Amino acid sequence: AASAPTVQLPKRRLGKTGLEVSVMGFGASPLGGSFGHVDEAAAIAAVHAAFAAGVNFFDTSPYYGATRSETLLGKALQGLPRDQVVLATKVGRYGLNVEDFDFSAARVTASVRESLGRLQVEYLDLVYCHDVEFGDLDQVVNEALPALAALKAEGLVRHVGISGLPLGAFRYVLDKAPPGAVEVVLSYCHLCLNDTSLAGLLPYLEAKGVGVVAASALSMGMLTKAGPPEWHPAPPALRAAAVEAAALAESRGQRIEALGLRFAFRQPGVATTLVGMTTPEMVAQNVEAVAAALGLAAPADDKDKAEEAAADAAVTELEALFVARGVKDVTWPSGRPLP
Ligand code: NAD
Repeated sequence: AASAPTVQLPKRRLGKTGLEVSVMGFGASPLGGSFGHVDEAAAIAAVHAAFAAGVNFFDTSPYYGATRSETLLGKALQGLPRDQVVLATKVGRYGLNVEDFDFSAARVTASVRESLGRLQVEYLDLVYCHDVEFGDLDQVVNEALPALAALKAEGLVRHVGISGLPLGAFRYVLDKAPPGAVEVVLSYCHLCLNDTSLAGLLPYLEAKGVGVVAASALSMGMLTKAGPPEWHPAPPALRAAAVEAAALAESRGQRIEALGLRFAFRQPGVATTLVGMTTPEMVAQNVEAVAAALGLAAPADDKDKAEEAAADAAVTELEALFVARGVKDVTWPSGRPLP
């Protein structure tokens, strides 16, 4: 069993939503089983351990595990006070291929009602259009966002966002949508050890008054000792560099997961970073790594200082490795070509 948390992670304002979200958010996509088998009791314990450590932000989607993530997260949240949880889910994505996306007003409206049922809640704090680049971006603007605005007026949805991989898709939607229609952007795999390309878009997002959620601090499991899952879309050279990075971390007596979080949580300009977790042990390790990255731990003695310096040196080495292999900021195609 995980020991009781010794630190409380702080919260930050998410754009202009008025929401206060923990610096680390709980990514529930692995609860759907996409990263391997999930033990239900362990997953529920992970959610509760995260909440006990100050994590109040939980992220899911009907797409994750074909609704399994929402159902399991809903079960876990039954044990927590609803008004102290910021719950985010998504609409529009229901499978892998372009035909599994539907950003029509009717589907978006039905999807939110279905999610409310699976999550066993009366309202959702935040609903994103999920991976907008697979849809018709004009339909996202002209149908999905107005449908979500109507659900807001009904009190079923509190705030609205968009998520996706190509940064250009955010610009397209934000430039066309009326002010306030998109309050939050969720960007993934672009603010981690091997890819910091989100940094270049932050001034634009700030000017638009949009809150920023960074996801996949470990690049969807690529920056882990277990390595990327089979389906991970990274090109071979990037995968190979990540495998090398894990070995390098180990040779320095470090855990690559801790180094990845150390790097990601020191990047400025985002309100919160989502990490996918399935066990209380992972939660405890990651809370500790984030606390160390943010300097929240107890005053350091000489041994702690030496350990901190060793971790910093290892992070620098890993950053240099991705640059040396020519894969820094290398990404992969996602969705339709941007208009
Ligand atoms: P991630 O980078 O957070 O990595 C998750 C993987 O790392 C899981 O396999 C997990 O088991 C493993 N892991 C985490 N901590 C570990 C530890 N201490 N030791 C060993 N392994 C560890 O990737 P993610 O889960 O894809 O991203 C986080 C969340 O962000 C998702 O769960 C999802 O909620 C959200 N997200 C959204 C989108 C989108 O909207 N398009 C895309 C990606 C992620």
